[in-house]
Amino acid sequence: MEQICLRRIHNDNSQDIESYIAHDGYTALRKALTEMTPEAVHEEVRASNMGGRGGAGFPTAMKWNFLVGARGQPKYVLCNFDESEPGTFSNRIIGEEDPHLLVEGCLLAAYATGCSIIFIYIRGEYFLAYERVKHAIEQAYARGFIGKNILGTDFSVEMHLRRGAGAYICGEETAIMNSLEGKRGYPRARPPFPANEGLFGKPTLINNVETLSNLPDIVLKGGEWWSNLGVNEGAGLNIYCLSGHVERPGAYELPMGTTARELIYEHGGGIWQGRELKAWKPGGASSAILPADMIDLVLDFKPVQAAGTILGTAGVVVMDDHTCVVDAAIRDATFFEEESCGFCFPCRDGTRVLRMLLERVRHGVAAPDTMDLIEHASTDMMGASFCGLGQFAPWPVVSTVRNFRKEYEAHILERVCPAGVCPMDGAEPDEHVDRRTLQEMLVAQKGGVLA
Ligand code: SF4
Repeated sequence: MEQICLRRIHNDNSQDIESYIAHDGYTALRKALTEMTPEAVHEEVRASNMGGRGGAGFPTAMKWNFLVGARGQPKYVLCNFDESEPGTFSNRIIGEEDPHLLVEGCLLAAYATGCSIIFIYIRGEYFLAYERVKHAIEQAYARGFIGKNILGTDFSVEMHLRRGAGAYICGEETAIMNSLEGKRGYPRARPPFPANEGLFGKPTLINNVETLSNLPDIVLKGGEWWSNLGVNEGAGLNIYCLSGHVERPGAYELPMGTTARELIYEHGGGIWQGRELKAWKPGGASSAILPADMIDLVLDFKPVQAAGTILGTAGVVVMDDHTCVVDAAIRDATFFEEESCGFCFPCRDGTRVLRMLLERVRHGVAAPDTMDLIEHASTDMMGASFCGLGQFAPWPVVSTVRNFRKEYEAHILERVCPAGVCPMDGAEPDEHVDRRTLQEMLVAQKGGVLA
């Protein structure tokens, strides 16, 4: 089976420049700089129909268009390596095992879009990946792949590596720029968009690690070739990170458009310990928790969106029939409560409200209208939160209410956890939330008045 980003990871010393060069490394850069114009590179990316692998799936070539037309110098490439979505680890593997692939991809993006400075912003906890990308940059400088007049051409570029400090929000494309500038990692209002006024106020192209790492093969073999690797109308390959209750968890680079059934059962070996599938998530913590009967969903941006959720980072999480969905939802709710940056009211308080409501369900002390309250809080958060974190944080919670209603009814009305996971001990959680508390939190932001 064809592989691109994970092709070299089992080679000896795969992270070293000699190994990389021995396996076609930097030949795409040489081809681009000596045989192709920046426009020609851009054209191949357009032909690839690639959607950015960072989560949104926005067409990569269109994003590049914005930058090419933007005024201001210098222009920056900002590689978003702040991979923090639970259940997602594809970028880490590339950084640890094939860092030169990423370096070459960054150089190609800079060449095609007229950028002269590249920043790679890497998640602070990725210690090994940081060391290996740092070493790769040093080696590439020493061999003349980065710097002035690269490969004897007019193309010059500098590359810098920066570490984050562990905040999930800094993976958001405007928060990452604030963080890089030494400011608190709050998101910025858009417009202005990064392509016009990005890092240090200059035009900035922000691409994800996997997006950039596909560029060498697109340049070498053509955008059309790359596009045709997909199935079910998908374009190219995609790394699906499979975790949870499967026999063979791991990162699988497969045709974009692979179904969840194929990923979980053919590649992942099926549900562990011979159990049944109960629920699964297509795109990390921010995506909905789906029922087992949606297992034939095509894992591509549009089909997953049409099913009411997001492919996101393609971090597929599997839950067996011993799982309690309330317990699963509260893990995500707790994560988002901790990672909310606190900048805006609906997310800061909404994430807390959702977690508190779920605590009450888990302990068997939830009010009969708790499902309505969760719907209410989630709808407000989705509509009023300032950035994607707060807009998507309710999905793992509200989707369980919608897709597993009977299980919630058992917890709330019968005081029973069907999976036998929740304590259901009648204990009042420390923080109390009732309808009025919730309404006060949600209505105050709108300047509204409580009835
Ligand atoms: Fe911060 Fe959440 Fe508001 Fe985003 S939605 S700005 S993470 S508080």
